[in-house]
Amino acid sequence: MTEQTARRAEERGDNEIRTPPGASGGHSLARSDATAPTLKSPADLVAAGLLAPAAAPALAAVASRYSVAVTPDIAALIDRADPRDPIARQFLPDPRELDTRAEELADPIGDGPFSPMEGLVHRYPDRVLLKLLSVCPVYCRFCFRRESVGHGKGGALSDEALSRALAYIAARPAIFEVILTGGDPLALSARRLRAVAERLREMEHVALLRIHTRAPTASPDLASPDRLAALTASGKAVYMALHVNHARELTPRAREAIARIQEAGVTTLAQTVLLRGVNDDADTLERLMRALASLRVKPYYLHHPDLAPGTSHFRVSIDEGRALYAELARRVSGVASPAYVLDIPGGYGKVPLQPPHLERSPDGGWLVRDRAGRAHAYPGESADEMAQRAVAD
Ligand code: SF4
Repeated sequence: MTEQTARRAEERGDNEIRTPPGASGGHSLARSDATAPTLKSPADLVAAGLLAPAAAPALAAVASRYSVAVTPDIAALIDRADPRDPIARQFLPDPRELDTRAEELADPIGDGPFSPMEGLVHRYPDRVLLKLLSVCPVYCRFCFRRESVGHGKGGALSDEALSRALAYIAARPAIFEVILTGGDPLALSARRLRAVAERLREMEHVALLRIHTRAPTASPDLASPDRLAALTASGKAVYMALHVNHARELTPRAREAIARIQEAGVTTLAQTVLLRGVNDDADTLERLMRALASLRVKPYYLHHPDLAPGTSHFRVSIDEGRALYAELARRVSGVASPAYVLDIPGGYGKVPLQPPHLERSPDGGWLVRDRAGRAHAYPGESADEMAQRAVAD
């Protein structure tokens, strides 16, 4: 499929990509809010009162480079009176996104070198990523796959590419776990998800099916009973890793979605990105981790922010991140404590940000040691840079 064809298919709603359905009543949002269209441009955001009209022209270039989508659930969560609102910061475009730094990478976690074919990443022997689509219900401004995820960036995996990827998995008995990611897999229809699950069911060596999704908080109706039934039809142990960065995202509608997921027999994990101005203080992290644990969602990973293009305003330094994580670990039990990890740029895998994986380099930066013991340089941050960023914020 050419990019142009894919874009047209995506616009028509082909390939089973669905927009969020309406609310079913009894939720925190009024029905009219929950069924409102997703906001997809600076003009939409101005009309919804989320951006000042004067800000829109400067953001047109941002929106044409990196997709914008703010669902009704997220729009309702944004505090319009707070210029530092942590929800707004995650989803509203910012002119700083056009500032790409020398250390930033189009493929920051290095999926490309480990992709044997379209839609598949095979970095570790026992697991693969299966990227079913390249669209999401919302677009996070710090997204690590922002150069490959968004409208006009590919749509859904074609039937042929999906068949090839599934055949690859079927032929490799060492693959224990299949991770559906993208894009957001819950943006696919139940029928499409069931077709994948049923193929996996035939593969006895695959024991775990994991789904990475932002939908339960950003567009809770996408965690629908039919999609959940489709996933559990795989007959595998099904895990869902929910992307949640702030306790306010756990609205009553999100909590209902989480309950549906759990009632379907799916084990729930959470992954959080440590983000400047969103959750980079110990109280906010503590509230989030306690809220997740109390919902029976196990905090799994706290990701150090990746070197994605145009995201330097979101990044904390490793020193800051380690200090926050140490404080979090002092406050909460292991049940509410995620692992603080870095995906080593270049595709060398994910490691905990602690010795023996982490050491200072003589130039003031860091050496991050991958699981094979190889050391990789990672930039530190000078006092000047930290001061400049504090002023900009
Ligand atoms: S939901 Fe995930 S893949 Fe989609 S924009 Fe956010 S971070 Fe990127």
